[in-house]
Amino acid sequence: MRKGWKQRAAAVAALLAGLALPLAGAHAQSVDYQAVVDRAHAKFKDNNEGANADYIPALDEVDPDLFAVVIVTRGGQVYAAGDADHRFSIQSVSKPFTAGLVMEDQGIDAIRDKIGVEPTGMPFNSIIAIEQDEARSRNPLVNAGAIAAVSMIKAKDARQRWQYIVDGYSEFAGEKLSLLEDVYVSEAETNYRNRAIAHLLYNYGRLYSEPLEATDVYTKQCSLGVSARQLGMMGATLANWGTNPATGRKVMRKEYVDELLAIMMMAGFYDEVGVWAYDAGLPAKTGVGGGIVAVVPGQMAIAAFSPRVNEAGNSIRAMLAIQHISEELNLSLFKSGKH
Ligand code: GLN
Repeated sequence: MRKGWKQRAAAVAALLAGLALPLAGAHAQSVDYQAVVDRAHAKFKDNNEGANADYIPALDEVDPDLFAVVIVTRGGQVYAAGDADHRFSIQSVSKPFTAGLVMEDQGIDAIRDKIGVEPTGMPFNSIIAIEQDEARSRNPLVNAGAIAAVSMIKAKDARQRWQYIVDGYSEFAGEKLSLLEDVYVSEAETNYRNRAIAHLLYNYGRLYSEPLEATDVYTKQCSLGVSARQLGMMGATLANWGTNPATGRKVMRKEYVDELLAIMMMAGFYDEVGVWAYDAGLPAKTGVGGGIVAVVPGQMAIAAFSPRVNEAGNSIRAMLAIQHISEELNLSLFKSGKH
């Protein structure tokens, strides 16, 4: 009897809490996520600020008006608005996934010791950041650290190294992913700066395979095609602590996802990570292809895609859409009254 009373009291308390903070529990079943993504899409679809990244020629050819906003819940439900099935190059949004695969294979200290976990406060392809600190690569979410992460994969040649990545990413997505050949060719023809970064790291003993091979596989990794829907599912695997919600397959150990999300919080937006933490308050990763994925730990992933980027190489519409959803659903990890 006593138990029944307690349960009823708990239900009433939950109801009251729900009334006081209608959206505090974004996990509450009552939230209409489809309406949320539709609203975010409608609100920013006419924002034409920024421009396609053009230092990789193929990216400049992508239709700049494409725009998608997707939520994938920890349980695997997908809510999509806009061009959610258009495949774009994942670019730097790939970086946490390779870091995750390396952590899973080589243990939690591998990334911390061989790459580092400090934000640089500098652009993604900074060479000054490499020169400035003895960690050199600094963290796995800038180009230097990401090429180093690729070099850490145990493989006997480039083919095996690439296969490891494409198989691992497909596990995160819960379906087979493949390369966007035109983006790869275009980026491979123009990636001299990344080749320089790889050689510099090798010189300092902070790259762990042959530099041009590591750079080439990294370039392929960045040219992998994903849709916003697929990217959302990859993020939802992190939100679900390393197990893909659709396939039920464990890709990463739960305890390693914590560390990966910490790195994403600190370095996912390069030199804009401060304002991102301030405005959205979520671990996330951006890419110059126009994709962003944000993770609400234990709840959901929000993925967005639109090709026009700002000076830092971050998609303007995607950023605005995710920030808007974070505010609307009260998702920032730092919100007062939340914990
Ligand atoms: N492939 C791109 C590069 O190495 C990735 C950069 C990015 O998305 N920020 O320059």
